[in-house]
Amino acid sequence: MSYQVIRPTNGHVIAEFDIEHHYYYLFPDGCEVPLNVQYAWCHQCELFVEVEKLYSQQEIKENIDRLNSWKADWLQKDEEMIRIIKKLDGPVNQYRTYAQRFESWKSALGWFEKRKSTARCLECGSMTAIIVLPLHEVIPHPYGVGLIEIIADGDLVSIDLSDGIYFPPPIYFDEEGNRLSSADIDSVD
Ligand SMILES: [Zn+2]
Repeated sequence: MSYQVIRPTNGHVIAEFDIEHHYYYLFPDGCEVPLNVQYAWCHQCELFVEVEKLYSQQEIKENIDRLNSWKADWLQKDEEMIRIIKKLDGPVNQYRTYAQRFESWKSALGWFEKRKSTARCLECGSMTAIIVLPLHEVIPHPYGVGLIEIIADGDLVSIDLSDGIYFPPPIYFDEEGNRLSSADIDSVD
């Protein structure tokens, strides 16, 4: 499934984004949480781009509460998951346990409280050049002629496990939304 920027008049697709992205915040303490994405026009990139959608403190607290509410079942769930991954010869060490996720959301609460930057373009890092666009709404092209619309395309694909389990390499950003290089990531580890 993807999000497409289309011309509503003729259905022409001018940009496309896979919703299955693998963006994560990596905090200085080594904890990581998924980065939420929304879509924008970036004046610096001169492209339709993915930009951060910042978590509110409320959303983070809800994630912590949700995990906390079924804490007693984590161990079993993790064991089941690891058994499945092993059976399929998948990378067990890349599986994030519920205990790890819980710790990560608690860590996120502190980092995002201190965060100074507003949402950034994931391509160029700009906070000021972006115009966030609404989904499923016909609007004028933010920097051009005519109309555009962002639509969801395709069905939710059922996961094909015939080739085993594969975790695509994550792309990491720091707590201020700056993309990390592999050297930066090594220094955290
Ligand atoms: Zn940009």
